Amino acid sequence: MSEELIGGAVEDLRRAIQPLAYPQPHWNAGRPAWADSLYDRMRDALTATSAQSGAPMQASKAPARIDVITWFVDVDHSVGVWQDGNNTIDRLRQITETTYTPDHLNLVKAMTRRCEAWASSAHQILGDNPPKVPVLRRPCPLCNELWVYDRDKVRAYALTATTRADDWVAACAACKTVWVTKAEQAVFLKLIGVA
Ligand SMILES: [Zn+2]
Repeated sequence: MSEELIGGAVEDLRRAIQPLAYPQPHWNAGRPAWADSLYDRMRDALTATSAQSGAPMQASKAPARIDVITWFVDVDHSVGVWQDGNNTIDRLRQITETTYTPDHLNLVKAMTRRCEAWASSAHQILGDNPPKVPVLRRPCPLCNELWVYDRDKVRAYALTATTRADDWVAACAACKTVWVTKAEQAVFLKLIGVA
């Protein structure tokens, strides 16, 4: 049971790290394309804001936007505490390859929440259109479970929908079904009666 829970939690963590540390597929004028990771896009934003606000000669010394800097301070510091590595992207990628035991469940969940929060604030800072994530407080359309319980008997909704880059992913923690692709999402929305 706890083995299963940690497995699901690690998958969530990997999914949360994806947009931060890896190039992201997206649709550009109807064609599939690759965008830089959020971390790289934020680094570009940092350079751009520095260059904008100062004279060209002193671009590197000009202050960058405080929200961008705050984001980097938080991300770089926290990820550095979690994992050794050459730089933040390297550390995040190493985390996705780490094997965690059930003892790490709370840590893994906490890291997931932080990564999701960083991704969503990065999207906000970068002015990305927020993906329309369905609100799910209903039983899974396939296994009909409403709740799952972790090893401390803490209850959570079985069905969750999380943002991923400029898209969303729905998953059921009870029957482990994941709806990822556009076609699967369409099926999912129909199953839960939204579309
Ligand atoms: Zn289910």
